[in-house]
Amino acid sequence: MGQSLKVLLLCGWLGWTAGAQSVQVDQLQEPLTAEEESYVLHGLNWMAQFYLEQGFHPRNRLNARVFATYPEFSQYQLAHRNFSDGSRPSPTAYFSISADELVTWRTRTLKSLFVHEGNHALLRSDFRHPPKWINEGISECFEGFDFASSPPAFLPQRPRLRKVKRYLTPEFGRQVVSVLDLSDREFNQMSTDRGLDSYTRAWALVFYLWTQAGPRGLGELLRGLKNGEPAREILARLLPGDLEQNLLTFYDQLEPSPPLP
Ligand SMILES: [Zn+2]
Repeated sequence: MGQSLKVLLLCGWLGWTAGAQSVQVDQLQEPLTAEEESYVLHGLNWMAQFYLEQGFHPRNRLNARVFATYPEFSQYQLAHRNFSDGSRPSPTAYFSISADELVTWRTRTLKSLFVHEGNHALLRSDFRHPPKWINEGISECFEGFDFASSPPAFLPQRPRLRKVKRYLTPEFGRQVVSVLDLSDREFNQMSTDRGLDSYTRAWALVFYLWTQAGPRGLGELLRGLKNGEPAREILARLLPGDLEQNLLTFYDQLEPSPPLP
């Protein structure tokens, strides 16, 4: 075997082991239970691997502040979070760029919230200012996945799907795609809308893309957006055909998955 080939093989192997991304969580407040930590690390590592494979450079450390109760969380959020972008106080969790920490509390959905906020941290490591719709759309999409199994089960997020099913009018596809036109401020303001709120629209678009084009499709969308390519042009390439009509047909036929054990 030639020396250069050996070097090449070695580099390939090193590249592969380095690719087995491992994220460390520094717990600043209450510790997670062993079961929670296992789930959360599985989710974080899977997401970090996804970003790595799609050409991004995700961080490998994350600060997490988990409060025992809602009042403690709420008090901390009001004192420390910056609301200048029009975002509202969250009842459950948020990721702070300025403080560089994930903040949440012991709700029933702690593990999936952790995955949601953890995705914001990982995505932003290498794409500092993603449009709000893709940042939230991916977090909502990954939040719905079940990381208790390996590989994860790529399930639709149940509360989002229930909402989508309630608003499957002929206008549905147009409403979902119109999330692309919202400024970040408008997106935040429409987050608590009755009907198809901005988060549900963003989830519906990203989850549909995931089912049709998989991780490669989502990666291509992210790279295109990072390069400043218009979202509609990338989506037209990845999802050829009548997108609005196809969204309606897809969600009309999609059945909710059974509840997790
Ligand atoms: Zn979010």
